[in-house]
Amino acid sequence: MSTFKAPKGTYDLLPPDSANYLAVREMISAPLRRAGYGYIETPGFENVELFARGVGESTDIVTKEMYTLTTKGGDELALRPEGTASVLRAALEANLHKLGNLPVKLWYSGSYYRYERPQKGRYRHFSQVGAEAIGAQDPALDAELIILAVDAYRSLGLKNFRLLLNSLGDQECRPVYRAALQDFLRGLDLDDDTRKRIDINPLRVLDDKRDSVQKQLAGAPMMRDHLCEACKEYHDTVRELLLAAGVEFEDDPKLVRGLDYYTRTTFEFVHDGLGSQSAVGGGGRYDGLSEMIGGPALPSVGWALGVDRTVLALQAEGVELRLPSATQVFAVPLGDDARRALFGIVTGLRRAGIAADFAFGGKGLKNAMKSANRSGARYAVVAGERDLAEGSVQLKDLETGEQQPVALDEVVAELSRRLA
Ligand code: ATP
Ligand code: MG
Repeated sequence: MSTFKAPKGTYDLLPPDSANYLAVREMISAPLRRAGYGYIETPGFENVELFARGVGESTDIVTKEMYTLTTKGGDELALRPEGTASVLRAALEANLHKLGNLPVKLWYSGSYYRYERPQKGRYRHFSQVGAEAIGAQDPALDAELIILAVDAYRSLGLKNFRLLLNSLGDQECRPVYRAALQDFLRGLDLDDDTRKRIDINPLRVLDDKRDSVQKQLAGAPMMRDHLCEACKEYHDTVRELLLAAGVEFEDDPKLVRGLDYYTRTTFEFVHDGLGSQSAVGGGGRYDGLSEMIGGPALPSVGWALGVDRTVLALQAEGVELRLPSATQVFAVPLGDDARRALFGIVTGLRRAGIAADFAFGGKGLKNAMKSANRSGARYAVVAGERDLAEGSVQLKDLETGEQQPVALDEVVAELSRRLA
């Protein structure tokens, strides 16, 4: 124990569990890498104004959850609460949209920070893998991203997740709907904070989790009944493409994002084993965001999946990822000459691509064998003075207990064969 603890709302990733976490990141991003998405990494902090504009002044993220700081030089920065605004900022700054074909397809993986009330599945430091396809309005692109997320969850072995889908309309039909919704909401019995939302962000009221609000929303006008022809056709195509790919979804007319630059396709993945923190990922089309942060018109679509909650979802379903053992071979030397010989063999094994470890610290045979077993290795290579005198080592199969001598200069080849 040290004097210090991890800050509230954060946790440390430690071996062996951290291997799972890393594998989840890998497996979420694998489908993206196979679909032409290139890796992007942006700074952990940005100008606070980018998020104020790019995430939205009226959102909880910006009003309550952002970690902001003033640098010694007087710059106003914020730890990144999400990825989309940064990725779009970086793409515009580097003119990626002018250099190659559109859409520019990017994926990212990293840490995000939100000052939240910590609870299971809700942390102040968490991790997302995300994808953005910038500069094309094509229902196949929306479908592609959703399918890639579904394939990622499936590859992990998750079953109890659901896809909720909606369309938010566009600059033509959304304002008309927004006004109709505002009229309806003004007639309800709502608290002051919610009343304020009617003006700033009326769609968000549909998302209110409280029963007292939900009860009054029966009969509220729904976006899906107000979609213009172009939006309706676009959404129908997305739905058809998903169904053709064997992706099931639930139409959720109350699924919203609320800000004007979010348009058309919006979706969320929920997992039923997570209690109240059920959203494992979400995304949608954001055709107006580029202009909002000073760029040209670049219709885009993206998603972000929460890694922490995905790991919790795996636990909830009892899914064990089949990961290769961190150590395949463990070397147990007895005496100084053997230490030198086996250290060389361990280096040779590693260079041959075999995960190998060594009994460091001059342990006796019993303790060293304990370490070998604990390491999860399949084989132990054991050698003492007598083995060395015969130019061999003992190769022990830790699963069956069988042991046999192998010539020193054959060990790497023999283990490569056995572990292939
Ligand atoms: P919620 O409604 O649970 O607050 P959100 O709408 O704020 O989620 P997004 O901004 O869409 O979430 O982020 C995408 C994903 O990132 C979420 O679905 C979730 O899996 C994950 N996520 C968001 N906030 C947190 C957090 N504080 N701790 C852990 N994971 C989070
Ligand atoms: Mg949130």
